[in-house]
Order: sequence, then C-alpha cells, then structure tokens
Amino acid sequence: NSKDISDTQRYQAIDAAHHINAFLDQKALNQEGPRVMVKGRGVHLWDSDGKQYLDGMSGLWCTNIGYGRQDLIKAAANQMDELSYYNLFFHTTHPAVNELSERLFELLPGQFSHVIYTNSGSESNEVLIRTVRRYWDVVGKPSKKIFIGRHNGYHGSTVGSASLGGMKFMHEMGDLPIPGVVHIGEPYWYAHGGELSPAEFGLQCARELETKILELGADNVAAFVAEPFQGAGGMIFPPESYWPEIQRICRQYDVLLCADEVIGGFGRTGEWFAHQHFGFEPDTISIAKGLTSGYVPMGGLVLSRRIGAALVEHGGVFAHGLTYSGHPVAAAVALANLDALDKEGIVEQTRNDTGPYLQKSLREVFGQHPLIGEIQGTGLVAALQFCENKESRKRFENESDLTWACRTHGFDEGVIIRSTLGRMVMAPALVITRAEIDQLVEKTRRAVDRTA
Ligand code: PLP
Repeated sequence: NSKDISDTQRYQAIDAAHHINAFLDQKALNQEGPRVMVKGRGVHLWDSDGKQYLDGMSGLWCTNIGYGRQDLIKAAANQMDELSYYNLFFHTTHPAVNELSERLFELLPGQFSHVIYTNSGSESNEVLIRTVRRYWDVVGKPSKKIFIGRHNGYHGSTVGSASLGGMKFMHEMGDLPIPGVVHIGEPYWYAHGGELSPAEFGLQCARELETKILELGADNVAAFVAEPFQGAGGMIFPPESYWPEIQRICRQYDVLLCADEVIGGFGRTGEWFAHQHFGFEPDTISIAKGLTSGYVPMGGLVLSRRIGAALVEHGGVFAHGLTYSGHPVAAAVALANLDALDKEGIVEQTRNDTGPYLQKSLREVFGQHPLIGEIQGTGLVAALQFCENKESRKRFENESDLTWACRTHGFDEGVIIRSTLGRMVMAPALVITRAEIDQLVEKTRRAVDRTA
C-alpha cells in the first residue's frame, strides 16, 4: 500500500521497476536507491527527505540561470497558451523561434549566420555529421567526409555523437565509432605531458591533428570536432598553445573546426561562448544546456556564414528535420533565459567577479592540499586533479574510485560536485553569490578531506 511508505521509498521502487538510468549500474543502484530530488531554487536543491544541497554542478552543467526563475516559467506558460506547437517544416515558421534567433545572433560573434535547432547536445552533434558532409558536397568536395575527434572527448550518447566522442567504454558498447570517425590524443598535460612544459605539450597535441590529416589526406577530412575545454571526459583545460595551433592547422588544410559548446556556451567561462575565452574562431558551434538553462530541452548547431551561405545558395532540399526543431515553448524559454543572462549582467559578473573569486578561493584552499595536484578552471567551471604525489604528478591507480567516493562525501556534506576519472568538477549556476561560493568551496574541502 503506497500510503504506508514514504515518497522516497515509493519513487525508488518505481525507479527500480521501470528505469534504465544514465551511465550507471542499474542493478547496484536498485539496491542503494537513488536520491529523489524534489525542489530547486537558485543554486539549491532539496531531496524528498528534506535535505538541502548546494548544487555545484548546475544540474548537469545546464541550469546556468539557477532554479525556479519566474520569468522563464511565465515565458513557457504564455507560449503554451498562445501556440503550444508548430514547426519549421513545409514552408511554416512561428514568432517564438524567430525572436530567439534574432537574439541569439546578437550574442554570437559576427562570423555566424545560421542555426539548425535540436533538442539536445547529442542531437546537435548528430546533426553536425550530416550538415558538414552536406556542406562539402555542395561546395564540390564530396570526398571530405572523415571527422577527427579526441580520446575522451564527449559529444553525446547517440550513435553519431558517441562516435565523435572518444570514450572507449562507450565505443565498446555498440560497435562504435561509425566508419569515417577517427580520434587523436587529448591535451591532458597533467597525465601525459611528461617532461614537456605545458606550452610544448599543447603544441605537440595540436600537431597530432596535422599528422592525422596528412595520414588521411586533407581531401578526405571534413572536420575536427572538440570541446574548447574537455568536460565529461576528465575536465581538461588545454595549454594556451593548443587552440591557436589547432586553428592554424584547420585553416591550412581546409578542415572545418567544430566547437562543441554544449557545456562551454552561455557564460560558463565568463564569455558568452567558450571559444571566445580560448581565442579561436570555429566554423560551427554545437549548443544545448545553457541555451534554456535546462528548463526545457533545446539545442542547436550554429553555422558560420561560409557554411550557411553555401547551403542556402546551392539550393535543393537538405533532407533533414526534427519534429521539435525550434519548438515554440523551448524557444520562448531560451529567449527569456538569454534576456535574463544579458540584462542582469550575469556573464560579466562571472567574468569579473564570481568567476575569479571561485578560482582564487579554490587555489587558496587546495593549492597546498596533499591530495590535489592541479587546479584548473576559468569563470564558473573548475577541476581538482587528485594525485598520489604532487612533485612527480603520480596519479592514484584507483583514482576513479577515490573521486567517486569524494562525490558521495559531498552529498553527505550537502554539496553536489561531480567526479570525472581522476578529477572533481564544479560548475555551479552563474547566479551563485560570493557567500555561496564560500560554502561550495568549504563543503568541497570537507568532502576531499574525508576522501584522504
Ligand atoms: N556535448 C558535450 C560537450 C556535453 O557535455 C554533452 C553532455 O554532457 C553533450 C554534448 C550531450 O548533450 P545531451 O546530453 O544534451 O545530449
């Protein structure tokens, strides 16, 4: 009888009976029972037992504006009332998506002109594969078909996006990558830099791209796809030398540079888009998450003028479309979200105040910590590298177990931080205050100390 058991137990039982959840061992989860999250406000969450958490991960690095914003909620409700659904198929459009696109291209740098809307980051990268190949077809270079990604890159969970990604354990499940996708190394100096300086290592990693292009033949290579900073595959910030060299190589061999900004976009680094922080100019940007601050699903593939114009000028049908591409409710929420981020100066605040404050606080608290070998980050995203020996940069053999344990201690301490391989990650909502950053850092310190 459901009245005899708590909400927590009831939802855990339903979850165990009916769900196959993301990236975990469902059998193990069913024994433990998941936490049931019931409410969010600002940077805080509450579970069904009333325990409060400081959400240091903004959901899944997506609730950039924080939880519970009435302006986004009203935008959704008003749009549902006015026109709950229509589409961009068969010679139709609607106001919400056009209002959003006008705003989006005001915020994007001037080299971008077109967007294909999707419902998620995975879809944005899925759409990337066909769109890029279509581009090379229409400009008369149909042999340019191969995509180059990176080991431990993460671009999503569908067949195409997981292929672009370089997660070995994902490839092993499902016979991936698909043909026409290859990978080069990741610019993870702490792990692979050896005796090289970060600058030397950054150049060496970038030049792996050149070697790969020459090996495959530039006439066969369509694009290089990468996150400006690597997220789910280890939270890796490349050395400064990396991106300028990647850009030089892509230009030299006429290979499109495709930035996956699904977590880097919409203010995370203190710039509107992460490629602006790293100082390079991609040909496409994959977006999702922060576009709507996760209130409703929406993503997109943003195209440069060069690609947009070629696709349009060539004429002919591009046989692609998603029922919910440019969904009016998602578009209305995205517009309200972008308006709020912009008008409230939240990106500037991230760049000039809260971002530097988080970075400084982490370095003060963890700079000398025996367990933390490297602190990386910018704006409101940061990673703490676990290490066994600070001097030699020796990593723990069981680092994933340790970071997972740290994450669990974090939950006990009332903070949500994430573990990725050997690193602890934080990416709080951009509305976080200095006082909340103090709490985030202090609770994280306690979680790390309990792991030691
Ligand atoms: N690309 C990057 C860089 C991501 O971090 C993610 C998700 O975390 C994705 C793509 C996939 O996005 P989604 O989970 O919305 O499909």
